[in-house]
Amino acid sequence: MIESFDAIVIGTGQAGPPLAVRLAQSGRRTAILERNRFGGTCVNTGCIPTKTLIASARAAYVARRAADFGVDIDGAIRVDMPRVKARKDDVVAQSTGGVEKWLRGTPNVTVIEGHGRFESAQVVRVADRQLTAPQIFLNTGGRPTVPPIDGLGQIDYLTSSSMMHVDFLPEHLIVIGGSYIGLEFAQMYRRFGSRVTVIEMAPRLIAREDEEVSRAVQTIVENDGVSVRLNAKCIAAERRGKQISVRVSCDEEPRAIVGSHLLLAVGRVPNTGDLGLDRAGVETDPHGYVKVDDQLATNVPGIWALGDINGRGAFTHTSYNDYEIVAANLLDHDTRRVSDRFPVYALFTDPPLARAGMTESEARASGRSVLVGRRPMTRVGRARERSETQGFMNVLVDGESSRILGAALLGIEADEAIHCIVDVMNAGAPYTAIRRAVHIHPTVSELIPTLLGELQPLA
Ligand SMILES: Cc1cc2nc3c(=O)[nH]c(=O)nc-3n(C[C@H](O)[C@H](O)[C@H](O)COP(=O)(O)OP(=O)(O)OC[C@H]3O[C@@H](n4cnc5c(N)ncnc54)[C@H](O)[C@@H]3O)c2cc1C
Repeated sequence: MIESFDAIVIGTGQAGPPLAVRLAQSGRRTAILERNRFGGTCVNTGCIPTKTLIASARAAYVARRAADFGVDIDGAIRVDMPRVKARKDDVVAQSTGGVEKWLRGTPNVTVIEGHGRFESAQVVRVADRQLTAPQIFLNTGGRPTVPPIDGLGQIDYLTSSSMMHVDFLPEHLIVIGGSYIGLEFAQMYRRFGSRVTVIEMAPRLIAREDEEVSRAVQTIVENDGVSVRLNAKCIAAERRGKQISVRVSCDEEPRAIVGSHLLLAVGRVPNTGDLGLDRAGVETDPHGYVKVDDQLATNVPGIWALGDINGRGAFTHTSYNDYEIVAANLLDHDTRRVSDRFPVYALFTDPPLARAGMTESEARASGRSVLVGRRPMTRVGRARERSETQGFMNVLVDGESSRILGAALLGIEADEAIHCIVDVMNAGAPYTAIRRAVHIHPTVSELIPTLLGELQPLA
């Protein structure tokens, strides 16, 4: 017998649960499916656990620097990895348990544990149950890419997901991938006490950022003692006794880097291959992302795709915004669109990189007249007081409209300070809205009005 609902949500990532609750509150009998742990990637293997681990790594870093602040610690600083992991597990358990309790406690929501797969555009199978609904919402997220590297089949390797089970200190962690996830793990494990080498195929780290940003982030992780190997070619892996050897060049020395553990951090793929999308007629692009329109509807009427699977964002905040867009259009008669949002994200190294809108090279390529305000963190009082002066703040302004085009803030508190810029960009207000504001002293944000008062043409 087919069980009928008004709506089915597949996946409990960052969009599925709030959408299921809103649908249920609107009177729709809603089923939500989860095949693994409630809350998805961010809660279980992504943002929350990594930022919890980064907090432990920072505590070790500050403890080692205690003498710089006139604080004596007798004895060596040691990191107890089982306790670090237990603390992380505890924080994760609160979040995943909270999502599950919320869903199970919401009237009109039916939680079904298991893998959902389309049998047709309106029928979803979960084990031996068949469900049907006129509205189906996909929020099935992604998983780490395992690239076709020679020799990988012969060795044990880690991904960002399996790193969550690590409760020991790798002697030498090799990280393949010099972008967001790889760099966060690299700095974190270096601070825990591992030797760490990052291997990157491109000529620079986080290659989509401006060169100045890539260089500064490289210096920051190298100052922590992370080794960086760029322009890696001919990558292959093999076991050497108890060690893992990763070839990084066919002709230049050193040709290989030998370490105790290998982490693959080279990107993510959408969980769309096992959803039976072909049976529903839902179209995907060549990379497996579900094709959606500006309001996140797929090509099949009655089916929407939210979060990482639609390729329109790869962050918790973009997935949550997808929920808001779908809920606004379906339930609030409020026409919201994906194209209304501009890119914002952070790399949570310490200090973090916070980004909004265009990079300098994108602004240049746009053909606009562009102004830039710059300030090194050495000229930010808050950073000097904390003896953490690495980084800079750059903000780009359109010379004609006076609108802020983008910003790259690299420095302490940058992940919070960026939001005054984000809010003014969202308001469509000119940069003078910040330029004339009074910000609190002594903070990092207080220097943003100052740098906006010193705008120069972008060279
Ligand atoms: C190491 C790491 C660090 C990150 N750090 C950050 C960060 O600091 N900030 C940030 O904004 N983002 C970060 N991200 C990205 C962020 O985690 C994701 O963008 C976010 O979780 C949004 O995912 P989602 O909503 O698309 O789905 P997900 O969170 O991936 O959840 C999808 C859910 O669907 C379930 N599912 C899949 N298929 C089925 C099926 N067929 N049937 C039933 N259930 C199914 C899965 O089990 C999963 O629970 C990080 C990611 C990683 C890996």
